This record gives sequence, structure tokens and C-alpha cells, in this order.
Amino acid sequence: MVLRFFGFLLFQLAGALAGWVLADWVLAAQPAALPTLAGAWIGAGFGAVMWFFLDAARGLRLLRWLKAGDAAQAPTMHGMWGEAADRARRLLRSREHEVLDAQRRLQEFLLAIQASPSGVVLLDAKGCIEWCNQTAAGQFGIDMQRDILQPIGNLVRDPVFTAYGAEGDYSRSVVIPGRDSTPARPLKLSVQLHPYGDGRRLLLSRDVTALEQAEAMRRDFVANVSHEIRTPLTVLAGFVETLQTLPLDAQERSRYLALMSQQAQRMQTLVNDLLTLSRLEGSPMPMAQEWTAMGAFMVQCEHEARALSDVMAGDPQDASRQRGHRILASPAPQAEIAGAPTELQSAFSNLVTNAVRYTPAGGSITLSWTLLPDGQAEFAVKDTGPGIAAEHIARLTERFYRVDRSRSRETGGTGLGLAIVKHVAQRHGAQLLIDSTPGVGSTFSLRFAASRIRPAAGPGAPSAIESPRTPGP
Ligand code: ADP
Repeated sequence: MVLRFFGFLLFQLAGALAGWVLADWVLAAQPAALPTLAGAWIGAGFGAVMWFFLDAARGLRLLRWLKAGDAAQAPTMHGMWGEAADRARRLLRSREHEVLDAQRRLQEFLLAIQASPSGVVLLDAKGCIEWCNQTAAGQFGIDMQRDILQPIGNLVRDPVFTAYGAEGDYSRSVVIPGRDSTPARPLKLSVQLHPYGDGRRLLLSRDVTALEQAEAMRRDFVANVSHEIRTPLTVLAGFVETLQTLPLDAQERSRYLALMSQQAQRMQTLVNDLLTLSRLEGSPMPMAQEWTAMGAFMVQCEHEARALSDVMAGDPQDASRQRGHRILASPAPQAEIAGAPTELQSAFSNLVTNAVRYTPAGGSITLSWTLLPDGQAEFAVKDTGPGIAAEHIARLTERFYRVDRSRSRETGGTGLGLAIVKHVAQRHGAQLLIDSTPGVGSTFSLRFAASRIRPAAGPGAPSAIESPRTPGP
């Protein structure tokens, strides 16, 4: 401020001096002209006006730069205008930094939303698309080049969603079919709108196909288990009532009791299989360090096949006894297998008992254990039973799936055997292979990776092998 005042004074002094000199010069030439003092005053006034114009020009320069708002082009000035320019430049710089910072944070935020497994769509007050992440683009078929500012209703035409949008109650979500949903491959999306800002809405979508499928499977499973248990329970209750109400002789009583025991055993087998399945699903993966001689499993399987075949043939004293099965066990190469012995035995037994149960009397069953050239090894059970039509094969390992329901029940099947085998195979990195020709027979094999097989360390069988599934009558 002081400098500015001195500058103003300097201009006036310079003007006064110039006026004085000029008046003095003119006076010397023409004595009637202006006196020198008046010349000095006029010069001082002229200096003041000059200063004013120069000052206004600097102010205008500063204003012009401020209008452009480019901090890098700040004018170089001195004095008060210089300081004003400097402060304005610093202010602009800090604003520019703030804007850049906000932009960077917005980009990071959008990138984070892009990575979200949920779909996110920003809608304006009219319900038009302003922005969406890739997940939402895939779920609703949005093309950001083409569909920007398009009403969301043009792309999501499901009536449930339309009604939800119109209703305005966004406290709940709705489930609608995804864009590529087909009856064979249903796709379910859970969508919810969240209002924000001035009438804007955020559309959040989540793929709930797996959840819905799991829920449907759980419902089916409970219904199946209830049905499986209800049938023998009803029969059992009927027999109990008969025993309570009818005067039966000893022979009839014992026949009824035998039938009741059969039904009780059926329920027991079902519960055992359910427990086995739940143990397989809930327990940690079996260690690959526990080795068991394969020969021991083969002996146990052969023994079980013969025992079950005998039971199925009937009482040896009875004239109506059927022929048994021909059980062949091809000589197994000495090898050890890594895994949980009880689980492996359970899988092998299920395949063996199935072969015996489904093969008519007189048929043959062959058990084999083969080391394959690539180091893998295969346990196989081949039978000359009815065989299975191709359309059933992919579904055999589903819980409670049966090709012939009555045959399965007659022979004490629960419909869970192959589901157990599949679980054990998965837990041991093995493959369950099914090869079957209707009218000829079936071969069920479990193929183990080379890493789970090693040459036998020596003779001797493990002691901890037990039969996990009680054969049916
Ligand atoms: P189940 O207890 O009914 O035998 P599984 O899961 O063990 O249940 O088998 C599923 C279905 O696969 C059986 O109901 C049967 O129809 C068919 N199946 C299994 N093994 C054989 C086989 N060796 N021969 C013919 N059909 C078989």
C-alpha cells in the first residue's frame, strides 16, 4: 500500500517536474504564456491521470487472466496487483489439486464398483441409465455406448420388475429371471432399488441362481427323506396295529415280526446312508499319507458279494432257493492306495452290492483291480445285469435317483449308494466311470490318480476295514 502511494506520488512529481520544465521553456520563448507553477500543477495532474490508466490496465490484465482461470498462465506483476495475482494463482492451484484429487478418488471408487460381484446401475430421476458396472451390463445386457440415458424399463422388461419400480416400496428386493435365462439353464437375479440424491435411484442386482438351486435341492432332499422314511413307518405302524388288534397264531405273528424287522432295517440303512453322506460332506479331505493294501479291499469286496448273493438266493433248506451269482475276482496286482480306508471300502462295497442286487440270479459279477500303463489304477465291478439306458447314466449319482424304484426298494436300496460313491471319489481325486448296455450289463469303475497308488510294501492287510452298508434282504 505504501509502495503504491509512493508510485502515485512519483508519477505526480514526474508530471509536475515535466510541467515546470515545459512551462519554463515556453515562458522563455513567450513571456505571456503560463507561469511555471501552473505548469507544474498541470503536469502533476497529468501524471496522476497517467498513473490511473496504467493502474487500470494492470487491473484489467489480472481480471482477464482470472476469467481464463489457468493458474499456469498467471501474469507477472509487482506491487498490490502482483500480490493479488499471486494469491489468486495459489488459490487456483489448490482448487485444481482438489479437483484432480476428487477425480482420482471417483475413478478409484468406480473401479472398486467395477470389481464388485453385484451389479450396480445408477439411474437418474426419470429412471434412465447414467452409469453401470460390468456385472450389471452382463446381467441386464446393457451396452454403455448404446444404452446411456435409456430408461431401464426398456432393457428389463420383466413384469415383476416393472411392478416393483412403479410401486415405490424399495425396502424389499425382488427376484427376476436373468437376461440369458432358459428353462434348461435358469438364471435368477435378486434386484433392489435404493433412492438417493434428487429422486435418483441405485439399482443393485445379485446372481442368486446357485442360492435358489441350493434352496430347491434342500426342499427336494427333505421331501425325499420324509417320503423314504414315511413308507416303512406306515407299513410298520400297520403291522403293529394288526398285532395289537387281531388274534394271530404263533406262525403268523413271527411272519409279521419278520416283516416289521425288514422295514426297521430299511429305515436303519437309510439313516446310516444319510449319516455317511453328511459325514463325507462335513469332514476335512482325507489325508493322502494313509496307505492301505488294495488286496485287503478286494478280499472284503469278494466276501461281501458272496454273502449278499447267498442271502438273496434264499434259505439253503428251502426248495424255492434260487441260483446264486457267479462271483469272479481277477487276481489283483500288489499295490497300496492312499486315502481314508473306511470311505474307500464304503465306495467299493456300494458298487459291489449294487451289482449283486441288480443282477438276476445266475448272472456273473467280476471284480478287478488294474494298474494302468499311465500309472493310474482302476477298481471295476462288472455285472451281467439289466444294464442302464444312456439317459439315466448322468443322473445316477443324484440322491434318491433310481432307474427302477421298485427293484431298488425290493433289494433294500436307499437311492443314496452312488451319491456316496461319487463323494468318496471326489474326496480321493478319483473318477467314477459308468459303462452300461441295456440287456447286457454294466461296469462301474473308480479310477485313481497315479499319486494315490504305490507298489505294496509287503504282505499284510489293514485291520480297520469294516462293511459300512448292511446288505438288504
Ligand atoms: P440304490 O440304493 O437304489 O441302489 P444307488 O444310488 O446305489 O441307489 O443306485 C442308483 C440307481 O442306479 C439304482 O436305483 C439302480 O436303478 C441303478 N443301478 C445302480 N447300480 C446298478 C447296476 N449294477 N445295474 C443296474 N442298475 C444299477
